[in-house]
Amino acid sequence: MLFDTHVHLNADQFEEDLEETIERAQEAGVQYMTVVGFDRKTIPKAMDIAERYENIYAAVGWHPVDAIDMTDEDLQWIEELSQHPKVVAIGEMGLDYHWDKSPKDVQKEVFRKQIRLARKVKMPIVIHNREATDDIVEILKEENAAEVGGIMHCYSGPVETAQECIDMNFMISLGGPVTFKNAKLPKEVAKAVDLEHLLVETDSPFLAPHPNRGKRNEPAYVKLVAEQIAELKGISYQEVSETTTSNALEFFGIQSQ
Ligand SMILES: [Zn+2]
Ligand SMILES: [Zn+2]
Repeated sequence: MLFDTHVHLNADQFEEDLEETIERAQEAGVQYMTVVGFDRKTIPKAMDIAERYENIYAAVGWHPVDAIDMTDEDLQWIEELSQHPKVVAIGEMGLDYHWDKSPKDVQKEVFRKQIRLARKVKMPIVIHNREATDDIVEILKEENAAEVGGIMHCYSGPVETAQECIDMNFMISLGGPVTFKNAKLPKEVAKAVDLEHLLVETDSPFLAPHPNRGKRNEPAYVKLVAEQIAELKGISYQEVSETTTSNALEFFGIQSQ
């Protein structure tokens, strides 16, 4: 059994074969997923998928790359959606310094607003971080994100920062990069962080794990991530899949079935 904690089945890349993709995931043992919506187009699609499939949940938030587009109405909309029974987290949110569509100060403000919203509705947050680790940790501290906790999605930072985030009630979610031969940091994190603080994800359709690197990613491949963690920790695949699944169920507050 596996829980892919971060998928974009709502992306255009799955328009043609969503049903088949979900079937392949189930055949690979992926029983649960969280679909992430992060703008005006992908949020309704995430809600639609979560409403149609029993074991698929939704996270709703605003992506830092598009921070400049977020209005007060959008924030209000996310707050309303947070009350939906299938919504389990606010996000993804965070900082992305790789692309320069939204200036840093705008990204930071939109990030802070969403943390405050999550604290108001008492929901955990999903963090997107690209080349912005120090600023993210600083804002999480300043905004007291520890009160709700969250997930460092597709974490690729150093072990020390992972530990700092764990101390703020965050889970560390590993994705495809942990399987890449040259990905030193994710492998170190997989070894060093206790299994009780780890989650697995694909971030489909992005970041496909080895040996599918460069192709469209899909939730079935989360098995490759779990297998790699098992190998790095020197424990069984079964232990990794069972523990990360129960971690995710507990984190999202889902009753297992
Ligand atoms: Zn992301
Ligand atoms: Zn994502």
